[in-house]
Amino acid sequence: MRQDQDIFAPDFKETPYWWEAAPRPRREPAPVPPRTDVAVVGSGYTGLSAALHLARGGRQVTIFEAGEPGQGASSRNAGYVGRTLKHGLGSLIESLGAERAVGFYREARFAYEHVREAIEREKIDCHLVRCGRFMAAASPAQYESMARDMETKRKYLGEESEMVPAGETRRELGTPSFQGGALIPDMSSIHPGLFQLGMLARAEEAGASILAHTPVTGIRREAAGFMVETPRGRTVAREVVLATNGYGGRESPYLRRRVIPFHGYMVATGELPPGTVERLIPGSRTCHDYRHNLFYFRRAPDGNRILLGGRSGNPTRDLKGKARRLHKALGEIFPELRTAKLSHVWTGQCAATFDQWPHIGEQDGIHYAGGYCFAGVPMGTWFGYKIARRILGAQEGRTAFDDLPFETRPYYWGWPWFRPLAVAQLDWKDRRGH
Ligand SMILES: Cc1cc2nc3c(=O)[nH]c(=O)nc-3n(C[C@H](O)[C@H](O)[C@H](O)COP(=O)(O)OP(=O)(O)OC[C@H]3O[C@@H](n4cnc5c(N)ncnc54)[C@H](O)[C@@H]3O)c2cc1C
Repeated sequence: MRQDQDIFAPDFKETPYWWEAAPRPRREPAPVPPRTDVAVVGSGYTGLSAALHLARGGRQVTIFEAGEPGQGASSRNAGYVGRTLKHGLGSLIESLGAERAVGFYREARFAYEHVREAIEREKIDCHLVRCGRFMAAASPAQYESMARDMETKRKYLGEESEMVPAGETRRELGTPSFQGGALIPDMSSIHPGLFQLGMLARAEEAGASILAHTPVTGIRREAAGFMVETPRGRTVAREVVLATNGYGGRESPYLRRRVIPFHGYMVATGELPPGTVERLIPGSRTCHDYRHNLFYFRRAPDGNRILLGGRSGNPTRDLKGKARRLHKALGEIFPELRTAKLSHVWTGQCAATFDQWPHIGEQDGIHYAGGYCFAGVPMGTWFGYKIARRILGAQEGRTAFDDLPFETRPYYWGWPWFRPLAVAQLDWKDRRGH
């Protein structure tokens, strides 16, 4: 109890910090229409991006959302907008050859530019800043590994970066915990909750309608298209878009066998004394360390706080316990914050895949996209747009990711029994400094 009082602010909450400025919008559950051109399942970035472009293309669009609009990861993430993939460029070049490897990274860049352009074009006020990304090295070996990676990206992608030597770390982070790192100036950040609300507003203005608290429980093929079942009624849709990422369920046995849900966790400090955030993260970059199960930290865009995420993986009911562990990590990264109080802890569900690629495709005529492995701000928005272009019959619906086989594993039906082992293995590698 005493420890709780020490680290938790009096107004501590177990909901996303982002929901303070971007509360989840209330929508009375509207009647389920008998027909629609396109049923979009899920109201995060993927679903809203698809819905917006389909509605602008003249389709009647109905968005089905199991809970409040945008209650999934799209209003819970860290707001890093990057163009990285889980597979490093160097290892991809070795396994696939330079042309194919560069093709994937080029697509990630398109996604990055697309989301920036969409925010500007749609005039969505969500604190979009080209802030740069700083990756902090905990050892000379990590620093060398980053330097090699940056060099490969410079050579094959023309990507600008700067190695910050150990002696100059304080330019980027006000802590003795790191020994230099890599700075990529062209990376961005947003307020994720405001971005989701902005996309929702634009999709509704374009004519899409959203049915909140209307989970899709089944989808059946019919002569006229698809029968979309919900507890509140059924709709016949010509096309269906599955945009459920880490929250999918029985509506798609195909995706359940291929998407591996895992939980991300974040905390926010309470308001820090004036000058603290400027001293600790002087450049306002989005930052992370170089562990396998990494910690990521940034300034809150709209306040004097620091947000930190990490210890991703398994679900827990004990969010306060998770907050304590993240608070400990916060104090190890920034010793000055050992006594800082936390105002929020929250969790959200992400989606990994067996091959660690994001996926977009069509199965039995149903469009889907997901498995973004922590990169859904750009990738979800981009893939949603691409699905819309495909349904509208436009040429530019193709992506570099189209031909990837979407793998599953024997005995995997949606419950990731292997997840604790995978997380333990990552933690073990991090403890050993591999
Ligand atoms: C803590 C955390 C930090 C992250 N940080 C970053 C980051 O900094 N940068 C980044 O790029 N990515 C990050 N991500 C990942 C990113 O948030 C996701 O990849 C992205 O939001 C996925 O968007 P989406 O629209 O596909 O899915 P979601 O936003 O998760 O939306 C899916 C929606 O589908 C709904 N749904 C599910 N099943 C049904 C059903 N049967 N019927 C109706 N509705 C249904 C859910 O209720 C949910 O609202 C992070 C994720 C977490 C959790």
